[in-house]
Amino acid sequence: MTYDSHNIFARILRGEIPNKTIYEDEYALAFHDIAPQAPVHALVIPKGEFMDVCDFSLNAGAAQIAGFWQAVAKTVTALELEQNGFRAISNCKEHGGQEVPHFHVHILGGKPVGRMIS
Ligand code: 5GP
Repeated sequence: MTYDSHNIFARILRGEIPNKTIYEDEYALAFHDIAPQAPVHALVIPKGEFMDVCDFSLNAGAAQIAGFWQAVAKTVTALELEQNGFRAISNCKEHGGQEVPHFHVHILGGKPVGRMIS
């Protein structure tokens, strides 16, 4: 499987589709999900071309990996979710329910979001 550079998040990174940005640096972009599943629902995506969490973890450089996860934490801070908590999840391929084939982490919060899948 190869990276599809026409996916929606690749287009958002190229500025072809607008987004509501929460945080951005050289490694990552965080923005609000267009169809929120919780009062706060953000997506954090790396700026490199990675399809899912395994592709990213195995093939990104150390600086990219550190920068991405620090961007996740900075997004949590920007959203003021640190005190009450949140869920961070990454859907992967068909059984994981992944729709957009560019690695992303969902951050869900703003209310108790329950335990795992239900
Ligand atoms: P996945 O199912 O791949 O883990 O999640 C993809 C997420 O991207 C979904 O929650 C969906 O609502 C969100 N999404 C899809 N298209 C867009 C878009 O154009 N803009 C934004 N902000 N979110 C999108």
